[in-house]
Amino acid sequence: MINHEPTPSYIADQNRYKQMEYPRCGLSGLKLPKISLGLWQNFGEVDAQSNATLIIQKAFDLGINHFDLANNYGPPYGAAETTFGQVFKRNFKQYRDELIVSSKAGYDMWAGPFGIGGSRKYLISSCDQSLKRTGLEYFDIFYHHCPDPDTPLEETMTALDHLVRSGKALYVGISNYRPADCLKAIKILKQLGTPLLIHQPRYNMFDRWIEDGLTDILLDEGVGSMVFSPLAQGLLTDKYLDGIPANSRAARNEIVHFNANQITSEKLSKVKQLNTLALKRGQTLAQMAIAWNLNNKAVTSCLVGASNAAQVEVSVDALQQQNFTSEELQIIENILSV
Ligand code: NDP
Repeated sequence: MINHEPTPSYIADQNRYKQMEYPRCGLSGLKLPKISLGLWQNFGEVDAQSNATLIIQKAFDLGINHFDLANNYGPPYGAAETTFGQVFKRNFKQYRDELIVSSKAGYDMWAGPFGIGGSRKYLISSCDQSLKRTGLEYFDIFYHHCPDPDTPLEETMTALDHLVRSGKALYVGISNYRPADCLKAIKILKQLGTPLLIHQPRYNMFDRWIEDGLTDILLDEGVGSMVFSPLAQGLLTDKYLDGIPANSRAARNEIVHFNANQITSEKLSKVKQLNTLALKRGQTLAQMAIAWNLNNKAVTSCLVGASNAAQVEVSVDALQQQNFTSEELQIIENILSV
């Protein structure tokens, strides 16, 4: 048969599965990479597609076979899914069965009452739109992005179950749910026959809310976790120690969720001390921050972001030094508790 598709210019590194580790996600049969890549920032219309392509290729070459999206990642909303779809079509079609691609709906996406929340109407139409933008036939994981107090949890969970039964998603997840609602969601989904695969909460040394009840539930119920912003959007690296570099996330005006005001002297003092400890351990602060997250046994995977391919390499190298002595853990506690 004549193949009319152009030969893809990218061939994945044949050693891609050698360095990465793939723990089971909770008690499911799905194994996820210990480090996953999120496309929240740096994959919008304002970003160079050549750079976006290099980041995704580097990640896959290093064994990161999970890419995380959401309907509203951009800017503008939808753009990260479109970018991913273009890169996928050009370079990754042949690797589809090696990939775990997730998307989400929950936060505001389009005007009117059906473009936000947790209704069946919103989740199913948004998933359809996300599939169109990415060009995928199905998502491996589809998440409800954030709890919606105005929609009965049964309706939201039934919509997720429907997405699986209709072949649009293989697994389902929830994100940003607090412990009580998470437990309710687990129970409803169990009854529906579509077990909750995963929870996606924020977790890093500066934001440890999940340790207060959520991680116990996830461990007890056999649900995995994909923790986002492990570097606190870049704060838990050495990049802000001498000011705010141009083009860093804190310096970019279009990024509304992180700015110079969040880089307080109190935080910077902790970052400096953590950086000293990281260097003593023979790694960068970014790597120590990732290793520290992975040290929590409820964590399946650290969901990092990157603005260039080199940052992906740094993050994956965190796996070289994952263990902490009890003394090191105590030093971290002391630094964080001041
Ligand atoms: P991180 O905390 O990993 O921050 C990533 C940013 O840190 C990079 O874009 C880069 O910013 C900087 N950085 C990364 N590596 C280095 C390094 N080695 N040295 C210096 N700076 C570095 O994660 P994100 O906040 O980006 O979140 C990751 C993913 O989590 C998202 O893409 C998304 O998929 C998911 N997420 C989910 C949410 C939810 O509600 N479910 C909410 C938020 C995120 P710079 O531009 O400064 O170089």
